[in-house]
Amino acid sequence: MDNYHIPAFVLKKPKTRIVCTLGPASSSQEKIRSLIEAGMSVARINLSHATADIHRETIANVRAAANDAGLPVAILTDLPGPKYRLGTLPSEGIDVEAGQSFTLTSGQDSSSRDAVPVLPEGLVRDVQAGDEVLIDDGAIRMIVDTTRGDRVRCTVVDGGLMKSRKAVAVPGRVSHLPYLTEETLHALDFSIDQEVDFIGLSYIRTADDLHRARTYAREHGLNAQLIAKIELPQGVENMDSILEEADGVMVARGDLGVQMPFAQLPGVQKRLIRRANELGKVVITATQMLESMIQAPTPTRAEVADIANAILDGSDAVMLSAETSIGKHPIEATSVMAETAREAEKLLDHEILVRRRAARIERHVDEAIAYSACWAAAEIRASAIVAFTESGSTAARVAAFRPQAPILALYRDPAAGRRLALRWGVTSLEAPKLNSVPWMFHEASRAARETGFAKDGDYIAAVVGMPIGVPGNTNLLRIIRVPEPRPPFPRTVDGEVPQTAVRRRARARPGPKKRSR
Ligand code: PGA
Ligand code: MN
Repeated sequence: MDNYHIPAFVLKKPKTRIVCTLGPASSSQEKIRSLIEAGMSVARINLSHATADIHRETIANVRAAANDAGLPVAILTDLPGPKYRLGTLPSEGIDVEAGQSFTLTSGQDSSSRDAVPVLPEGLVRDVQAGDEVLIDDGAIRMIVDTTRGDRVRCTVVDGGLMKSRKAVAVPGRVSHLPYLTEETLHALDFSIDQEVDFIGLSYIRTADDLHRARTYAREHGLNAQLIAKIELPQGVENMDSILEEADGVMVARGDLGVQMPFAQLPGVQKRLIRRANELGKVVITATQMLESMIQAPTPTRAEVADIANAILDGSDAVMLSAETSIGKHPIEATSVMAETAREAEKLLDHEILVRRRAARIERHVDEAIAYSACWAAAEIRASAIVAFTESGSTAARVAAFRPQAPILALYRDPAAGRRLALRWGVTSLEAPKLNSVPWMFHEASRAARETGFAKDGDYIAAVVGMPIGVPGNTNLLRIIRVPEPRPPFPRTVDGEVPQTAVRRRARARPGPKKRSR
């Protein structure tokens, strides 16, 4: 039987997960391998840019690099969502100046010097005279004068060069676009086809938006984890119901800073993270975390403080966007993030965190076991908490308590291993599905020892569900002093021939005695 092995760099990974957006600066297999070694757990593919062929190749590269590195790396595709964009403009762009009149049209995709199309159709119904229209994340600003037919007439306040497909936002206005626009459906179909692990959903307004995407994905055979990107005031308002429906959320500070007064961002970030923590949902803090490293080889002090604070707020994961997709130093940015995270994590008070969550959990066996494992692990200074997990939910539940001890998740389905890639503090290992609890305890001890998480004489806490193999029924906690001896009866694994049959055959046909394991 193979030994458990994890590459040395895994032991140095921070507990906070790192999401790296891949792009021209980072999509080769070699670069992805370096990103993994620097600390990337989840590769994000932004489907608002580039072509399906390019994305397909990048995804294949992630899978090959993860396989090479010998650990699960999840793929998160990010969908455009119901967003207005400029249509097709001449390649040199269109220059607009402050004070000039300019028209945004909603019908045909054709432009002139003083009128450009906005797609999909519908902007004219979503705005009123006096509204501010921001193009290219606020680089160009206009005020609406009149709306008539399919034309929105504006006066330019801040001019600049308009280019094809730049974002068009109207802060404070709720768009009436259906959630699954043609562009979004296309990206969702691609994600289904590629069997991705996570889907980031942009511009989520209500739980219903999320529900529509989930229903569509399920009907087409994909059971991916859905991450609701909170980037509209409406998403902030509805955060509670959205969190109920989502598997996780993203504090999408880029668009939030356009859609809301930016001074409110830190407060929204803290509230959203706290709510996600309370519900045990994954939360990713995103955008401009190391913005200066798009160019520079070192971060600003403010950026380092921002990452540390996002971790102290309770983020499961922090994200890099342009820093890794088009930046000059993708690997260095990831290393800086990992190093900053490792230092920040020293400041976490695990005792308080575990207790805070314990005060919130409802009468629920799985939660009680997860809490007990974290409490006991702290009490006896256990070297690891080992969770046997079918769907990933057992290990995720433990992670939600933020224990000091590292969490080792033993999974059988590789998809469960990848689903855990966004979970704080979890290291996932593929293990056979054993058919007896004593053998599982032995296996837990073996996994912790062979990976270097525990040495002889250390304690570990093992959590198991009985009957074995039924997802979501964690009901057993055992404290193990490593090494746990092998049970005195044969090991049975799912899919193996039952031992009684083997014995019967051996009796019927006596031959040279074989050593059983
Ligand atoms: P984006 O989302 O990078 O897809 O825009 C994140 C954000 O808005 O912060
Ligand atoms: Mn965004």
